[in-house]
Amino acid sequence: MSSTHSSRLSNSWGATHYPAVRKLVVERVGREWCLFLDRDGVMNRQVVGDYVRTWRDFEWLPRVPLALKMLREWAPRVVVVTNQQGIGKGLMSAGDVEAIHRSLRAELAADNVLIDEFQVCPHLEALGCACRKPKPALVLDWLKQHSDLEPSLSIMVGDSECDLELANNVAAVSGGCSSVQIGRGTDQDAVADASFDTLWDFAVAVKQARKEEGA
Ligand SMILES: [Mg+2]
Ligand SMILES: [Zn+2]
Repeated sequence: MSSTHSSRLSNSWGATHYPAVRKLVVERVGREWCLFLDRDGVMNRQVVGDYVRTWRDFEWLPRVPLALKMLREWAPRVVVVTNQQGIGKGLMSAGDVEAIHRSLRAELAADNVLIDEFQVCPHLEALGCACRKPKPALVLDWLKQHSDLEPSLSIMVGDSECDLELANNVAAVSGGCSSVQIGRGTDQDAVADASFDTLWDFAVAVKQARKEEGA
């Protein structure tokens, strides 16, 4: 993302995205809720035509660790929800993916940033399991185990259509789930509640909204 774009985004807050993010912020003041994040294409660069098989393949997208730190200051819980069909294909093991997530956790922990949980669907799409996104089980199962949270205040952040569908499928059961789309810039046709180029842009908008709302 170029710095020119940053300033354009800053200028557009008032007009378009800022009200949507302000609403997300205001509705959650003093509440217990969870921010659900897609992994590939949101936190790290998607490996085209392949999978992140080892930590060496994992490449943070720009400023994501700092974005996570800022979002963590806002969200009481942060959970990563990811389809990893490469496990079902035998390209990597469930242990390999756990090892990637251990490394990811360790790197963030050095900066006091905690990820509460990684919820992974390891299955082949063809298997028709109940947990592969956009099916809502990964999110709903986790929410069921955390009854101190308000399920309807959940937010799903993702870069693909299936993440938005996931938010709708969760909402149908939990009574609500807001969606934030990453990677479509300021596309007004996006059906998400808010959309940003990058997780960093979203985190900056949240920080700004919290500051202005004193939240
Ligand atoms: Mg993705
Ligand atoms: Zn599954």
